[in-house]
Amino acid sequence: MSGETDLIVVGGGPAGVEAALAASERGLSVRLVDEAPQAGGQVYRAPPRAFGAKFQQKADPIGVRLRDRLRASAVQTHFDHSVWSASPGYRIDALGPDGAVSWRARAVIAATGAQERVVPFPGWTLPGVTGLAGATIMLKSQGMLPGAVTLVAGQGPLLLAVAIGILKAGGKLAAVIDLASQADWLADWPAIASQPRLALRGLAWQAILRRAGVPVLYRHAIRSAEAQGDQLLVSVGAVDAEGAPVAGRDRSFVVDALTVGNGLTASTDITRLMRAEHRFDSLRGGWVPQLDTDFRTTLPGLYVAGDGAGIAGAAAAAIDGRLAGLAVAHDLGQCDDAAYQNLIAPLRRSALRARKFGTAMAKLMVLRPAQVAAIADETIVCRCEDVTQGEICTAVREGARGVNQVKAWTRCGMGPCQGRICGDIVGQLVTGQGNAREEAGYFTGRTPFRPLPLDELAPPIAYGDLQLPPPAPL
Ligand SMILES: Cc1cc2nc3c(=O)[nH]c(=O)nc-3n(C[C@H](O)[C@H](O)[C@H](O)COP(=O)(O)OP(=O)(O)OC[C@H]3O[C@@H](n4cnc5c(N)ncnc54)[C@H](O)[C@@H]3O)c2cc1C
Repeated sequence: MSGETDLIVVGGGPAGVEAALAASERGLSVRLVDEAPQAGGQVYRAPPRAFGAKFQQKADPIGVRLRDRLRASAVQTHFDHSVWSASPGYRIDALGPDGAVSWRARAVIAATGAQERVVPFPGWTLPGVTGLAGATIMLKSQGMLPGAVTLVAGQGPLLLAVAIGILKAGGKLAAVIDLASQADWLADWPAIASQPRLALRGLAWQAILRRAGVPVLYRHAIRSAEAQGDQLLVSVGAVDAEGAPVAGRDRSFVVDALTVGNGLTASTDITRLMRAEHRFDSLRGGWVPQLDTDFRTTLPGLYVAGDGAGIAGAAAAAIDGRLAGLAVAHDLGQCDDAAYQNLIAPLRRSALRARKFGTAMAKLMVLRPAQVAAIADETIVCRCEDVTQGEICTAVREGARGVNQVKAWTRCGMGPCQGRICGDIVGQLVTGQGNAREEAGYFTGRTPFRPLPLDELAPPIAYGDLQLPPPAPL
């Protein structure tokens, strides 16, 4: 066990870095832990160092500045470390390149971001099908295209970001399949226009797609994908405003790759494991930790900032991270009330503006229940344990009273991803059988929330040294 610090921040995205810097600038000793090789999180993901200078120049300048500021600070950083457990006290356990390590701190900020959601369809587990968010990792961090010709599908801003990323990297697009209508995109235009730089970027992306002659099918979704030699035959059809399939306008595409995503859900491994309270907020990505206005969870000393507190985008994550770092400094006595109020007032105003834009984007990513209701019986929902929609719905009909009972009866959510991929969809399926979403609940947090070799937990054993109890008398 390494020495205690004042604060451990888990997650080195915009929220985590700003939180760590703010707390460190107030004099707290701070550790920042991330499983990625460098800071930046999902949005400012750094290219691998081994890729050379030309590739490095493509890195987002905001991310470059974030990493420079972190390097120049007193924050102790631990990259390539996956946190797999958190316990009261606070103790954080991680697995790094040199094995298992544990740290203690007086306070923890979970800034673990989001994970992507895919509404299952027949064929979504085939090779060549990736998530939209996953495709951003391929493009940004590996400089790779999902395929020579790609179909991009789903909902929300990542749809356009990935389509443009593919074109810029020299790939071809068969089409963009958008669950939303054009009216859905324009519904919150005042909020979108409140961030003119991002709004203009969105309009420029639309223009690039038009110039490249890429068909954009609004109010459409993927029906199925099947392997056709090395390619995929993807069937696409119209949907209504709730996401339910509409008969009559089906089309098919033969492509090398399909990337598809239905928005993001908050990554809540730490707060669920620690049994903090959560609330359901469909607009912010489903179950999110219950927080007060200063980012405190219901457990003293545990805070959450960024998309892990609910989806609001990178700009809001950075400001909220700074606010959470200051809240910890205040609570640990490194910032008196007057100084704290002075520091947070302007940040709170900026956060409101940033969240307005983030909320407009988050609305486009909200799960559409009728799309989930249309998942066919035989479609796999839990891809770790191969559990189908039919098995989940049968368990509910036979009396399973929430997602955790469905998990116990079917093994759904028990695989290596611990339900991160299927959890939100299983919750919606349980709800679709006549239960309130709040009653359906969320998968209880379990450790390890990242896969971990068991021999990392115990020192090497010499069997001869084992103290065996004497045999029981006959
Ligand atoms: C895969 C993916 C790709 C995305 N791509 C984009 C994009 O291209 N453009 C865009 O605008 N938005 C993108 N988003 C949304 C974007 O992540 C957020 O809006 C923004 O980055 C939120 O910042 P954050 O600091 O809250 O979280 P993040 O930036 O997600 O940072 C969270 C960090 O926590 C780390 N982490 C999580 N769990 C653990 C653990 N157990 N142990 C150690 N480290 C951990 C992660 O490695 C990550 O670096 C993406 C989201 C996802 C899930």
